[in-house]
Amino acid sequence: METILKIENLTKDFGRIRALNNVSFTIEKGNVYGILGPNGSGKSTTLGIILNVVNKTSGNFTWFDGKTSTHDALKKVGAIIERPNFYPYMTAQQNLELVCKIKGISKNIIDEKLEAVNLLEWKNYKFSSYSLGMKQRLAIASALLNDPEILILDEPTNGLDPQGIHEIRSIIKKIAKTGTTILLASHLLDEVEKVCSHAVIIRKGVMLYAGPVDEMSATNGIIEAKTEEISLEELAVALEKSPQISSANVDFDKVVAKLNTEVSATEINKFLISQGIVVSYFEKRLPSLEQQFLELTNNK
Ligand code: ADP
Ligand code: MG
Repeated sequence: METILKIENLTKDFGRIRALNNVSFTIEKGNVYGILGPNGSGKSTTLGIILNVVNKTSGNFTWFDGKTSTHDALKKVGAIIERPNFYPYMTAQQNLELVCKIKGISKNIIDEKLEAVNLLEWKNYKFSSYSLGMKQRLAIASALLNDPEILILDEPTNGLDPQGIHEIRSIIKKIAKTGTTILLASHLLDEVEKVCSHAVIIRKGVMLYAGPVDEMSATNGIIEAKTEEISLEELAVALEKSPQISSANVDFDKVVAKLNTEVSATEINKFLISQGIVVSYFEKRLPSLEQQFLELTNNK
C-alpha cells in the first residue's frame, strides 16, 4: 500500500468552538474516501487544513512519503473546495487554457480532461451558458489538468438536480477507475455508499468510524423480540442478562437488543427459555446502513 496522506490527532479550534477533535485516518493510493457527517461536523475544516487554507490547532498531517512538504505535495493534488469560479464570458476551452497557462501545463491535455467529465462537445460554449452541473464538471476537469495523484471534492453534488447528481457521481467513479485517489466530503450517506470504497464518519469534530464502506454494516446484528407474558421492559432486562447482548431497549411495540458477538437467534432464544420467558415474536437481523449512520451521528 502506498500512502497518500496520513492525518494524526488533528484538532482545530475556532475560538471556543472545537471544530475537529483528535481526528486520525490514512489515505491509501487508489481508494475513494468519503468524509461523512452532518452539516457542521468538521468536514470542510479537515479539507481546508490539509490544503493549507486553514491552520490546524494541533496534531499532524503528512503527505505521500512523509518527507514531502505540503507546498510540494499540493502540486500533485487537484481540489475543489469552493463554488467553481471561471470567467463567464469565456468558453470552457478558453477558461481551461488560462488555467494551463497559470499552472505551466501544456494545453494539449484539455480535450482529454473535458472528455473525462463529458463536456468535450460543449467546450466552445461560454461558461455563463453552463448549468450548475456542467460548471461543477468543468471545475473537476480543471482540477484534473495537472494529472493529480489525488482529487479532493467538498460536497460535489450540492445544489444539483437528480440528473446532475447522477452524472457527477458516475464521473467520480470513472476517474477513480483510472487509478486517481479520491477524497470527498459529503453529508449524504447514500452518496458515500454509492461512490466510496472507504468512509470516515465524523460528528461534531469527533471521528466515529474509519474503514471500508462494506464493513460499516458488518456489525453482529440485532435481535427483535416481543412477548405477551411479561412487559417489554421486563423482556429487555432479561435479554440484557445475556453476555452476548450489549444493550436491550424497548422500541414502541418490541424490544431491540444489540448483539456484541456472532451468535445465533436460537442461542438467544434458549437463553430466554432458560429464564422461563416465551416470546411471541423473535428475529435476528442486521441493521441497515441508514440506521447505523443515524445511530452513529444522532444518538451519541
Ligand atoms: P462541515 O463542512 O462538516 O459542514 P465545517 O468544517 O464547515 O463543517 O464546520 C465545523 C464547525 O466549525 C462548525 O461548527 C462551524 O460553524 C465552525 N467553523 C467553520 N469555519 C469557521 C470559521 N472560519 N470561523 C469560525 N467557525 C468556523
Ligand atoms: Mg462543509
